[in-house]
Amino acid sequence: MSKITKSNKLHGVCYDIRGPVLAQAKKMEEDGLKVLKLNIGNPAAFGFDMPEDMHRDIIRNLYAAQGYCDSKGLYSARVAVYQHYQQKKLPNISVDNIYIGNGVSELIQMVTQALLNDGDEVLIPAPDYPLWTASVKLAGGTPVHYLCDEEQDWFPDIADIRKKVTSRTKALVLINPNNPTGAVYSEALLQELLNIAREHNLLVLSDEIYEKILYDDAKHISIASLCDDLPFITFNGLAKTYRAAGLRMGWMVLSGKIGLMSDLISGLDMLASMRLCANVPAQFAIQQALGGVQSIDQLIQPGGRLFEQRNIVWQGLNEIDGISCTKPRGALYAFPKVDIARFNIKNDERMVLDLLREERILLVHGRAFNWPKPDHFRVVFLPHKDELEPAMAKVARFFSHYKQ
Ligand code: PLP
Repeated sequence: MSKITKSNKLHGVCYDIRGPVLAQAKKMEEDGLKVLKLNIGNPAAFGFDMPEDMHRDIIRNLYAAQGYCDSKGLYSARVAVYQHYQQKKLPNISVDNIYIGNGVSELIQMVTQALLNDGDEVLIPAPDYPLWTASVKLAGGTPVHYLCDEEQDWFPDIADIRKKVTSRTKALVLINPNNPTGAVYSEALLQELLNIAREHNLLVLSDEIYEKILYDDAKHISIASLCDDLPFITFNGLAKTYRAAGLRMGWMVLSGKIGLMSDLISGLDMLASMRLCANVPAQFAIQQALGGVQSIDQLIQPGGRLFEQRNIVWQGLNEIDGISCTKPRGALYAFPKVDIARFNIKNDERMVLDLLREERILLVHGRAFNWPKPDHFRVVFLPHKDELEPAMAKVARFFSHYKQ
């Protein structure tokens, strides 16, 4: 019998956050070694529990959650999402144009599948959360990466975006607050992005899963709240702000110039019905999450766990000779720059593998986020101070002698 091969569709599709470096870490764990995993933004794994009321609402409603629900999601959950975006002043929203998915991940794939013909281009930030690039590719589209500028607080380089728009460009993706850079975009920047979308008839896809994870004086503005003459899809979910990544709950909200999206909506409706519906018990947590006490606030203020941990990592990285780190203003990550000439680095994946073997700390190399040079890595700052401080000392020890 001949070999069973994977489909051609998967050629060029990659998602390296859970790639070969993680496989090596798992092997080390099987050999009995303890590895500190600073590679995945999974708050619950580091003692950040989801609010107790969300647990209670799921348990209370388990008996009512045995069957399928509407393909777009439970009405009560979608009304809660609707109210949230009404407060955020997104124009022309309706409960009907809100879809609940098994995580934002499922919805990103649903939208790219519904939207793209072979060769259609989508503007995606570099660095990005790599699911965007992978999903565009899988859907037959062409990801076109626009640069974000480290010297400008990691804001998108508007001139670079303009250079990369073509007649095949169909959508513009932004991730705000950003994974992996921690950037939170200003209104002036968002207006410039809107100008580009307006000039070139682009659908704006805004991934806002870190909406409420903001430090210092950072303020989050949903780009879709800024005008009503463009089509928008805004993505968010329970994984980060509500520390419930395991529930796999996300939503997307269509807004703005809805009339332009009627054909796309029929495609989304079909894809939503093909997967029947999202997990029903977990949907009962959405209303409580959005309407309940916003306990994330205590974690991000000075003295709060996330705030302190962000500072430990940001300061710790900047104290290492040859490494510099822009201050993350939101989300759960730092994305520092490594002086590749000093360490003679040619391959950033090898750099994180060497760190893993030597210090048993697992990071993700910058190229996994579609960053074009081997001069960055991403650190997740979720572990408790007692683990993070020694971890930063180990990273410093590694770079004090590293040469590739
Ligand atoms: N979007 C961004 C920017 C993310 O960082 C992540 C997860 O890390 C996701 C989407 C996926 O979210 P979910 O767990 O809801 O699928």
